[in-house]
Amino acid sequence: MSKTWVYSFSDGNGKDKKLLGGKGANLCELTQTGIRVPPGFVITTEACLAYLEDEKHRLPPSLMSQVTDHLRLLELNTGKKFGDALKPLLLSVRSGSALSMPGMMDTILNLGLNPDTLKGLLVATDNERFCYDVYRRFIQLFGKVALGVPDALFDEEFEKVKERAGVKQDVELSAWDLSDVCTSFLQVVKQFTGKPFPHDPYEQLEIAIKAVFNSWMGKRAIDYRREFKITPDMANGTAVNIVAMVFGNMSNKSATGVGFTRDPGTGENVIFGEYLVNAQGEDVVAGIRTPKPIAAMAHEMPDLFRELMELRNKLESHFKEVQDFEFTIEEGILYCLQTRNGKMNATAMVRTSVEMAEEGLITKEQALLRIKPETLEQLLFPRLNISDDVAPIASGLPASPGGASGIAVFDADRAEKMGREGLKVILVREETKPEDIHGFFASQGILTSRGGKTSHAAVVARGMGKPCVAGAEGIHVDVRLRHALIGKYQITEGDVITIDGSTGAVYLGEVPLIDAEFSSDLATLLSWADAVARLKVMANADIPSDAKRALKFGAMGIGLCRTERMFNDPSRLPIVIDMIIADTKEDRQKALDRLLPIQREDFKNLFTIMAPCPVTIRLLDPPIHEFLPQEQHLIDEIDILRNLRKNLRGMKVLSENVAFMFQHDDVHPIVQTPADPELLDAVILKKETMLNKVRSLHEVNPMLGHRGVRLGLTFPEIYSMQIRAILEAAAECLKNGVDVHPEIMIPQVCTAQELKRVKEWVTDIHKDVESAYRLTINCSFGSMLEVVRACMRAENLAEEAEFFSFGTNDLTQATFSFSREDAENKFLPMYNMNHILQDNPFEVLDVKGVGKLMELAVLWGRATRPGMKVGICGEHGGHPSSIEFCHQIGLTYVSCSGPRVPIARLAAAHAAIHAR
Ligand code: ADP
Ligand code: MG
Ligand code: MG
Repeated sequence: MSKTWVYSFSDGNGKDKKLLGGKGANLCELTQTGIRVPPGFVITTEACLAYLEDEKHRLPPSLMSQVTDHLRLLELNTGKKFGDALKPLLLSVRSGSALSMPGMMDTILNLGLNPDTLKGLLVATDNERFCYDVYRRFIQLFGKVALGVPDALFDEEFEKVKERAGVKQDVELSAWDLSDVCTSFLQVVKQFTGKPFPHDPYEQLEIAIKAVFNSWMGKRAIDYRREFKITPDMANGTAVNIVAMVFGNMSNKSATGVGFTRDPGTGENVIFGEYLVNAQGEDVVAGIRTPKPIAAMAHEMPDLFRELMELRNKLESHFKEVQDFEFTIEEGILYCLQTRNGKMNATAMVRTSVEMAEEGLITKEQALLRIKPETLEQLLFPRLNISDDVAPIASGLPASPGGASGIAVFDADRAEKMGREGLKVILVREETKPEDIHGFFASQGILTSRGGKTSHAAVVARGMGKPCVAGAEGIHVDVRLRHALIGKYQITEGDVITIDGSTGAVYLGEVPLIDAEFSSDLATLLSWADAVARLKVMANADIPSDAKRALKFGAMGIGLCRTERMFNDPSRLPIVIDMIIADTKEDRQKALDRLLPIQREDFKNLFTIMAPCPVTIRLLDPPIHEFLPQEQHLIDEIDILRNLRKNLRGMKVLSENVAFMFQHDDVHPIVQTPADPELLDAVILKKETMLNKVRSLHEVNPMLGHRGVRLGLTFPEIYSMQIRAILEAAAECLKNGVDVHPEIMIPQVCTAQELKRVKEWVTDIHKDVESAYRLTINCSFGSMLEVVRACMRAENLAEEAEFFSFGTNDLTQATFSFSREDAENKFLPMYNMNHILQDNPFEVLDVKGVGKLMELAVLWGRATRPGMKVGICGEHGGHPSSIEFCHQIGLTYVSCSGPRVPIARLAAAHAAIHAR
């Protein structure tokens, strides 16, 4: 027996979209559920592949005979005959692969018409105008789609006839006019192809089937598949659906339309769609006539409207998903022509999930699973409301989602100043550095012309939940002239620009924003997520405003508080600098004594906001030279100051001379010196000390140098101050009746010995504070795992640490021996493009390498300390597939930036459901 290439709608397996295509599978499903669909059959995607693989592009041998057999059934079914001059059966030939794919072949309607069958149609319908209308549509569609005749040639002829008839609208044409159109169209085809229009219906059918198959390898379709990463695994070849025609254009008792079972814009549980009376399918989409809203049907065709509502309910209760469907009414009979799952925005997805679950249509788990965690991003950041006529002037990488408008400002100090004046500011820089941080605080968004998605600007902006476009290469920033050049545009400080951190686009002027709103539907959905998830979701938050926002997003604690952000505050930086440039322990202690109350206050704030949730504080991590200005900057400044000193000396000489020379005159001119030379000397001295310090702190490779716990052990007084600030803050909160759970976390650990030393300080200070405040403080002590050796020694580390938290940003760098910045700017894109590496490991957790280390470390850590709390606080902690892996290896929690918390909560629920 030969292979089955063709399935009738009443036999095909509606679940097999790969074989039958999405449209075909659903038509089978509809037919078999008892929903009225015009009869038809599907030619499989396998037939398509077999045809394309054949060198001579022949149809598989038995294909056409199987098609003919199915045609016979169709004829029995409809009481019409294909190619018959009395009661002709007409067909539509429709493409459809496993995934819906614009760019593939258009549908051919009314196939089977020729001068003979046209006569039959005339007799059967007694409606000349209709018949010629159907015929001219068929000639044009077939000509265009199957024979490649340009549309313009047909349009030209059509216009000529309209002109001759003296009408503007198609509907005004008479049957005779349309008959003329048909004659001209046949002529057009003959002229263009050099052959007469094929009149044999079987020949028409075969040509149409081949044309559909060929369209799979058309340029538009190939480009589309590449763009959207559609692999053969997901969709391979297109099916062909052959369906008996039903006519929405027979009279005013006929109509055609499209519908959504719910409103795809809002998710509201009302039917949504449009229809046209006396029209054929493509008219609705083509916009030739303006369709009416479906609600109008309730008055115009009340019985059919009722039927349509029944159809809608059947579709939803069968597919258990919002459906996007097509229908046609032929002389009072309603047919469903197609259905598929509706595409909706995130708001509608959330609302329909909650409502369908509450209606009992789907389970809560299904409600959770039908939403991809990433799509929630749309709801958590303000979005741009872009109209079609605004085009971006530049584009970069979408580095931190959300839209923002403001005036362009080109350095952090100016940004801060203008921000303080209440202006909305976009900080535009070539790239950003830690010393620009105050500019971030003051800005609505950040735009850089260099750096990738994990550049400083991107990471910090994401942490703060501010929109950022990074690496917009077409932008040239001139900080001194305070302007930027973007192609032909010059943007001067004060000009308004808008950035879209979700797409990477940059616009001139202000684009209106749609505010993010955490709807009650989303809150409901996420409460369901929390109930099934095993992973807890914490937030990375450094300052009180971050913490407050994270709580709103449903964070269950702070998984990472980076104390350096507190050090970086412009009002504190001078004290931090004093601490760093101190020559003696005493001097350093003096600076630390001033920092202690400030840090204590910070922690008290955080604890109070987060109570009773845990707050994990990481002690100082970055190399300390990051808090000092850059060497060249200092050299320049010292140079300028020294020049000024010379000038001041000149002024002093001038002043003394003037005083001496004119002492006997009536008027005593006075020369004013603009600055106190001694003050100047003091400033120069301090700058020189800083410069020396910067030079002495210089490291060849600071990321692998004197930082984290290594720095802590070199200058014990810094960590001691921080530990004391944490414990005293906890004590004061407890005294105020605030329930606190601080956790002290040590960065960059590679051996248990490091932990042991710091733990001794913690123990001493803990006792000290407890006895000073006369109360008991619960505080746990743990380690970051971000060094490969730490993972390998997890068993030993667990003797000191009560918890672990994977710092997967550093751990990824360490595992690959890639520096992130260099990798992303130099070779990683090439690696990805050539499939040497599948993903960017700084965005998607590398489960095979980094993940393996994590898995082992969890195992070994818990061998020493059963049930040990282990989390992740790298950026991967907010990435859905990475979260799934964290669930699989048994982590206790993930921690991510505040706005990603809802995404992580949903992803954690997905992980738990998938693991069942
Ligand atoms: P697309 O994938 O572009 O929607 P379709 O194959 O669904 O293409 O068809 C295009 C238009 O033709 C639709 O409006 C559809 O409803 C209509 N159509 C398709 N098949 C038939 C048919 N057998 N009878 C009447 N109209 C049809
Ligand atoms: Mg369609
Ligand atoms: Mg780190």
